[in-house]
Amino acid sequence: MSLRGGTGRPAGPPEHARFRPSVPPRFRGLPANPDVAVIGAGAAGIAAARRLIARGLSVALVEARDRVGGRAFTALMRGHPIDLGAHWLHAGPVNPLVALGRARGEPLRRAAQDGHLWIGRRRGRAAEQAAFSRAFDVADRAMTLAAGRREDGPASGAVPASLGPWRERIGLVHALVSGRPLGEVSLHDWPSLEYGDNYFIAGGYGAYLARLALDLPIRLGAAVSGIDTTGPGVQIRLADGGTLAARAVVVSVPIPVLQGSVRFEPPLPARHRDAIDGFRAGIYEHAVLHWPSAPFRGRDRLASLVGGRHEPPGMLTRIDDTPFHYFELDAASAEAADALRSGPDVERRFARAVLAEHVGGRRMRDLAIPAVTAWRHDPWSRGAWAVVPPGHAQARSLLHEPVAARIWFAGEANSRLQWGTAGGRLRGGDPRGRCDRRSSLG
Ligand SMILES: Cc1cc2nc3c(=O)[nH]c(=O)nc-3n(C[C@H](O)[C@H](O)[C@H](O)COP(=O)(O)OP(=O)(O)OC[C@H]3O[C@@H](n4cnc5c(N)ncnc54)[C@H](O)[C@@H]3O)c2cc1C
Repeated sequence: MSLRGGTGRPAGPPEHARFRPSVPPRFRGLPANPDVAVIGAGAAGIAAARRLIARGLSVALVEARDRVGGRAFTALMRGHPIDLGAHWLHAGPVNPLVALGRARGEPLRRAAQDGHLWIGRRRGRAAEQAAFSRAFDVADRAMTLAAGRREDGPASGAVPASLGPWRERIGLVHALVSGRPLGEVSLHDWPSLEYGDNYFIAGGYGAYLARLALDLPIRLGAAVSGIDTTGPGVQIRLADGGTLAARAVVVSVPIPVLQGSVRFEPPLPARHRDAIDGFRAGIYEHAVLHWPSAPFRGRDRLASLVGGRHEPPGMLTRIDDTPFHYFELDAASAEAADALRSGPDVERRFARAVLAEHVGGRRMRDLAIPAVTAWRHDPWSRGAWAVVPPGHAQARSLLHEPVAARIWFAGEANSRLQWGTAGGRLRGGDPRGRCDRRSSLG
């Protein structure tokens, strides 16, 4: 089955939004006249609120959805906590959520270093595994070097030709983790992504963030439509007609939402507006498989299926030793599925067709696909993370500059070291006027 052809987008709410969070909410009410309003209760908003409260400020956190965690969301499926958004705690040595998790005694486990390679209908041999892994190292070194030496341009231009048969595969994997095809990703921004030494957390990433949000002053179901700094302090306008006054505001809503549905009065300065509008929405979606008899052994192993008519850019198998797996959809396959206007069923059929080609239809009798995410169609995210296109590499650092000493931006887009990650979510503003890139959630 191919995903090519057709036009348009599916209708209806995104499928992941139908699930309930595994950690029930327990929050405090909002204070009457908060020092700081924080907009968005994802990783960045939760982190900002915790830090500000720890410094003695009063905070009101307002969140559009009826749950916290944003793009980190754990739902219970067949009794197992399964992440529908962020799942990996990347770059352990520099990830503040890993440091905080250790300090809290959270159940972190280091990600396995090995994975599965499947070539056509057979398992890859040891020599093929080694060649594949060497090709990744060569590509990483070449791209990092090129970023230091060349003018900015598409990251695709720095993938070395010498990778031979692995070149296309490596481009596909990097496009998946970049959120866009490499031709649309800034070379100068690309190498700042740190992916070594990764961790998982038992019970799910979304559940971890939801625990960090317990007892914070949060109002759910409060979508912000405007931010007004024409008078003293800040007036936050809610979509239901309500308002909230504060001395300062931390804006942690995703960049694509800021591009479209939050109105600033007076308008943002041109440098901030240009920085925000220049990002592109990255796409990365999980098709969640429940597949007890899948031929992939070992807990939390990545699987690369190559050499077929269709090569899925990535899979994570036997998540936390359960029968659950992710079949990942990159920008190209998600956009092609949208063009067919058939909703998530077309992605289900695609996943089945690809797997059947590699492992054979008979092995798939117990395969179910209980969820296919669509963060790109979710009005409160409109994408997986913010991607810097070629020539726009200064945008992240610009977001660190406050506006009128009252508006600070926080969120994954701010972090150069860990962009696109939940761990990189609070490398941004601090309403006390400090900008601490080593800040932690604690
Ligand atoms: C499928 C998928 C897999 C991913 N995998 C990983 C991974 O393995 N590891 C990793 O580190 N990262 C991963 N990411 C990225 C990670 O999820 C994000 O970088 C991170 O969650 C962003 O945190 P944030 O606080 O900046 O934004 P968000 O989590 O999006 O939080 C923003 C909050 O603002 C709220 N909001 C939006 N608009 C409004 C409004 N108008 N008014 C009020 N509230 C509003 C939203 O509802 C949301 O709660 C993944 C993302 C996706 C989609």
